[in-house]
Amino acid sequence: MSTHVWDYLPEYKRERKDILEAVERVFESGQLVLGESVQGFEREFALYHGVPHCVGVDNGTNAVKLGLEALGVGAGDEVITVSNTAAPTVVAIDGARATPVFVDVREDDFLMDTSQVAAAITPRTKALLPVHLYGQCVEMAPLRRLAAEHGLAVLEDCAQAHGARHHGRLAGTMGDAAAFSFYPTKVLGAYGDGGAVITSGDAVEGDLRRLRYYGMEEVYYVVRTPGHNSRLDEVQAEILRRKLARLDDYIADRQAVAERYAEGLADLTGDGGLVLPSVAPGNDHVYYVYVVRHPRREQIIERLKAHDIHLNISYPWPVHTMTGFAHLGYAKGSLPVTERLAGEIFSLPMYPSLPRGLQDKVIGALRDVVTSL
Ligand SMILES: *Cc1c(COP(=O)(O)O)cnc(C)c1O
Repeated sequence: MSTHVWDYLPEYKRERKDILEAVERVFESGQLVLGESVQGFEREFALYHGVPHCVGVDNGTNAVKLGLEALGVGAGDEVITVSNTAAPTVVAIDGARATPVFVDVREDDFLMDTSQVAAAITPRTKALLPVHLYGQCVEMAPLRRLAAEHGLAVLEDCAQAHGARHHGRLAGTMGDAAAFSFYPTKVLGAYGDGGAVITSGDAVEGDLRRLRYYGMEEVYYVVRTPGHNSRLDEVQAEILRRKLARLDDYIADRQAVAERYAEGLADLTGDGGLVLPSVAPGNDHVYYVYVVRHPRREQIIERLKAHDIHLNISYPWPVHTMTGFAHLGYAKGSLPVTERLAGEIFSLPMYPSLPRGLQDKVIGALRDVVTSL
């Protein structure tokens, strides 16, 4: 059986009845757009986080974009983030007509190096956009301190960190607002596209609701500031409600897979060998992806194909090296840690229903390949 980093079919097999019931419920409800299921999901997702507001949107990219816009980011503003992220983080900044400014990441956990942020702040800086990458949180205290000092907004990109904790606090509850994606591969994944923004700010919530609905007040049908059409789909919302009830179990299952990998691969680490994920102090990692590092990555990936194991790289191209962002003017070598990592990292299969047999197969094959390099 061919093994990939992600597969939703084992989960679907297990949860099929519930998923199909969710679809049926929406189809029979008489309201296909912004109905009871979106409202219910928004209420329950806010409750999960202990925040007053959640606004469902159509995907994670637009969650970041609308989040930035609702925090007052617009043309001419600068947003500080990382290049070692999924491209949509940066596409969303561009979508809000702002300019991304990159700082490098830390060599050990691949997260935003918050010690570089102060030097990146200019009079045009409007917001900080930490990305809780791979399933664990960026160090938030220094960012909140800088934001308070310079009057900046903080938007957390939580697309990879549903349910992750940082010194006990949930990802998404440490900034002014937080953007989530429910793309199917994510820790909380829909059966299609979806996203949400959570916030404690009443005004931010109001702006988000207008922004996702053409810019209209839902009742008055008057556009004061043109917005977008970025609504969360009713069917996806109902599926997400059911999956949200199981989110902590999904996370526990991911952590169990990570533990097995760590045990099975521990002796391959060491000088010049495999580097396993490192969890920063105070973090509970939810393992959206299980990213390892090895200087001879290409050979490893190639040889694993002979075992019918097909791995991904999250991400092979740092965003600042992409042609679409060449105009930002980041030369090769300007973010050395990000660039070095991009050449050495790769991801092992990771999803909650990953069968034990496949976990063993991956560990066994990786052991064979790495020890025979
Ligand atoms: C997936 C992802 C997004 C975008 O989410 P979509 O739902 O695919 O639009 C944004 N930021 C990060 C860090 C992501 O991983």
